[in-house]
Amino acid sequence: MSNSIRPVQKIVTPQTVMEGAGVRLKRSFPGPALDFPDPFLLFDHFGSANSADYLAGFPMHPHRGIETVTYMLAGVVAHRDSIGNAGAIGAGDVQWMTAGRGILHEEMPQRGEPRLDGFQLWVNLPAHSKMIAPRYQDVPAEKIPTVTRNTGIAIRVIAGEVDGVRGPVTDIVADPEYLDVSIPADGVFEHAIPAEHTVIAYVFAGMGMFGVNGETIGASRLIVFGAGDAIRVRAQEIGVRLLLMSGVPAHEPIVRYGPFVMNTREEIMQTLRELQAGTFAQGLTKSD
Ligand code: FE
Repeated sequence: MSNSIRPVQKIVTPQTVMEGAGVRLKRSFPGPALDFPDPFLLFDHFGSANSADYLAGFPMHPHRGIETVTYMLAGVVAHRDSIGNAGAIGAGDVQWMTAGRGILHEEMPQRGEPRLDGFQLWVNLPAHSKMIAPRYQDVPAEKIPTVTRNTGIAIRVIAGEVDGVRGPVTDIVADPEYLDVSIPADGVFEHAIPAEHTVIAYVFAGMGMFGVNGETIGASRLIVFGAGDAIRVRAQEIGVRLLLMSGVPAHEPIVRYGPFVMNTREEIMQTLRELQAGTFAQGLTKSD
């Protein structure tokens, strides 16, 4: 492979935080170690065998200016939203929600599984797309293809393309790739990603050697990669599993206010005025 392998630029230890109505989760960013690997705004890992850590859930709340990606490993999250979607996200399922100019939704983890385990990523929408109509892609596990390389590496392709196999999530503004990569002992995974993309990875099981210098990193850590046009991971003897996420940076200023991410303070103030007036996310349906 003639590609230049990206180095590891930063390794982040997730911090435990409480979110929603009282959900304990591990947040890799934003935080003191890492603010905003453009276009990504937030990455959370929620996982517990104790239902008290998650049952309070995320009751009805608004979003504007972002996309949220929820990927489940175990357990079930029930959801419904203001454009008429409702359902449950279970093990292996993905929900890709484009808030655009406004959505209200609730995300409620359900009791009854031995444990809950999943991830939520927030992807920024650039200025020209912040106020698009809200949209939602619900992808059941069986629609997510798995590419298996002859070295035993298994790659679930949620968004993007691996070895000619395209993931089911399409038409996302940041042109993201989102892969769940399992590498058995001593396996080497290489994957080309355009140089202009930001690349991050979340190691959630095992241990591997990452980047051009083969830095040893184990679960649970988030990695930001530096410049180059390919990723390389060599699994240690216990194997390694990671989420690999990439996207085109927006290179724009952002102003964050909780579940809203806009370009200016005035746009945030306008959003708060709409919420107060009761006009936020009104009159939008799936067909908009
Ligand atoms: Fe939400």
